[in-house]
Amino acid sequence: MSELELIHADILYTGMGLPIRDGAVVTGGQTIAAAGDLETLRRQYPQADLRRTVGVIAPPPINAHAHLDMSDYAFQALPYFQWIPEVVIAGRLSRGLAGAKKGLAQVQHSGVAALGDIVWPGAPEVMEWLLSEAELSGVAYWEVLDPDPATADATFAQVMQDVQRFRKLERPGGMRLGLSPHATHTVSSKLHRLLANFARREHLPLQIHVAEHPSEVELVQSGTGPLAQSFARMISFTSPDLTLPEVLGRAPSPDLTPVSYLAELGVLDAKPTLIHMVNVTDEDIRTVAQAGANVVTCPRSNANLECGTFRWTAFVAAGVDVALGTDSVASGETLNIFDEIAAARRIHANLDPRLIVRAAVKGGSRVLGTKVPFLRRGEAWSEGFIWPEA
Ligand SMILES: [Zn+2]
Repeated sequence: MSELELIHADILYTGMGLPIRDGAVVTGGQTIAAAGDLETLRRQYPQADLRRTVGVIAPPPINAHAHLDMSDYAFQALPYFQWIPEVVIAGRLSRGLAGAKKGLAQVQHSGVAALGDIVWPGAPEVMEWLLSEAELSGVAYWEVLDPDPATADATFAQVMQDVQRFRKLERPGGMRLGLSPHATHTVSSKLHRLLANFARREHLPLQIHVAEHPSEVELVQSGTGPLAQSFARMISFTSPDLTLPEVLGRAPSPDLTPVSYLAELGVLDAKPTLIHMVNVTDEDIRTVAQAGANVVTCPRSNANLECGTFRWTAFVAAGVDVALGTDSVASGETLNIFDEIAAARRIHANLDPRLIVRAAVKGGSRVLGTKVPFLRRGEAWSEGFIWPEA
């Protein structure tokens, strides 16, 4: 074996168990000789040179939630209920393949292991390209938006057709197809049920935006507030007679939350990945844990859209897998997961940073169903295991 080098890391995550503080890796050329506690390895390998100390040694992280096709948008911080119409909808003409290609290049350059990407139905060419060509593993989720129960059956029939067509494009090692019923209130209760049952039958991974902003809770509890108003304006163009109780399949109610609403519909039985989950109750967290669903947090996007702060410790305590995502550049600023990790450490300053490392690696792999390489004796060593410093 070539000369041994010992690299000290403030945080070491081998891909097994929990990350440890003051860990180390002993390498001999391209191979890992040992990984573990610093003091132990110094005793076991007295001949190994301690050449450097780094912040984190871990498998490459995963960006579990992004919108590549929005990469030509400019970043704009606005409250969520205002950001949707004034940024997302207003800028829709810039959505598409050119943006997605630019976005994927940024994601690949950042050095992630896998990506969870939401694909807007207005740009099916993005889905075709991701499944058939993109050189990255992960899941491309086909987004579904339709709040009108009158068109739920027709929309669902179209989704089944789309899925059949897209599935033929999946390749081993490439991206897999998933589905994304967009959000709690932008898909009718009827369509939510149809999609969840279909996803379960077809083993399609699901991502749904849930409990993102406090106004989403207000919408299901009273049918009022700024999101209810902007949503009413939005649906007035396509379905002028549609009411919120028709969308939800029930009246808003003070004891309802976005999570309890989806649980009531049976959507959580499909074990979806729930995105954001900022505005939740203790009961919501228990419900998600019992359902075996996992969550993705996007700290920069949540801060920029004034959504609040994700209750990270409460989710971990309940046993829910937490993953990390950048969201789009329009709310998350960049698609670089290391920027997100740095922001997570700033925003969650009192959280044990080992939980953030674990979320970015293991949480993401749970969401996307990818494998995490182990850092242990005999495995190949890569400089890519040393995470860039923020
Ligand atoms: Zn999103």
